[in-house]
Amino acid sequence: MPYGIDPKLLENWNKPRIPIRGERPSDRIDRNELEIMATWTVDQQVERSIQIIKSHQPQHRPYYGCFSGGKDSTVIKALSRMAGANVIWHYNVTTIDPPEVTRYIYQCHKDVVWLKPEMSFFRAMLTHGVPTRKRRWCCSIYKERDTPKDVILVLGLRASESPRRRLQTSDFTYNTNTRRYVITPIRSWTDEQVWGFIKKYNIPYCSLYDEGFLRVGCVGCPMTEPMNRIAGFERWPGYRKMWRRAFYNLWAENLRKKHVLGKDWTMFDRFNSPEELWLWYCTSDNYGSDLDDCYTDDVDMFS
Ligand code: SF4
Repeated sequence: MPYGIDPKLLENWNKPRIPIRGERPSDRIDRNELEIMATWTVDQQVERSIQIIKSHQPQHRPYYGCFSGGKDSTVIKALSRMAGANVIWHYNVTTIDPPEVTRYIYQCHKDVVWLKPEMSFFRAMLTHGVPTRKRRWCCSIYKERDTPKDVILVLGLRASESPRRRLQTSDFTYNTNTRRYVITPIRSWTDEQVWGFIKKYNIPYCSLYDEGFLRVGCVGCPMTEPMNRIAGFERWPGYRKMWRRAFYNLWAENLRKKHVLGKDWTMFDRFNSPEELWLWYCTSDNYGSDLDDCYTDDVDMFS
């Protein structure tokens, strides 16, 4: 026994610290702490996340929960219920989500409020043009719309999902531009911990994960790798048809504007036909960079 210390005491000493009930856990986590928390048990993570949810609960109104139907939103929704939190959950309908996702939300989460857009993604494309990593107009239309100011959002973002998310160090942030508070109670969770929680509490989840999908979200999203985009089009040929038709419609609309209004379109310089443009969209990485994340700070898109 080194220095006469009881091994049991030593074991307890070395255990990661879990805040006691009523105490607010630190909102800031650095990279080292993230690595340590990746080794925590599911129960340790659950305890900490519940404390975060409880300690930021607004006094006279509910949290504004963002629910996408992915595994991370599934986890934060279950954790919020365990914490006894007052949350109203919202699902932003994008009109290009996989049907399995919408079916899962409809069947398993009757309490979620569906926020429907004014027009479909493909109609909006006629006005806004080709969505790319640098010009993801669709996020602000389909993911951020209708979120009121001065609320506390509950999001299922996790640091392990992208380099950009790893740069954030706090579970509780305030965005001065959008005037929104955001809590991310499972920011430090790993994939294994997420699945460990889902299995342990036998929580229903979207069937696409059992098909091998690691993430679920908009089919054909410009933010995904080209291989994933193509895989999505293979899996949902109906969406592929709609995307392709949207490119043809966009081409025709811009031709019309050129003839009627004399307005040029940069795509005419780069491509000879709508088919060329469509094939480029399927296979290009849309000028991406690994820090150009699909997610704005307070929007839950895939999980
Ligand atoms: S997830 Fe992709 S396709 Fe969906 S709104 Fe965001 S950028 Fe657009």
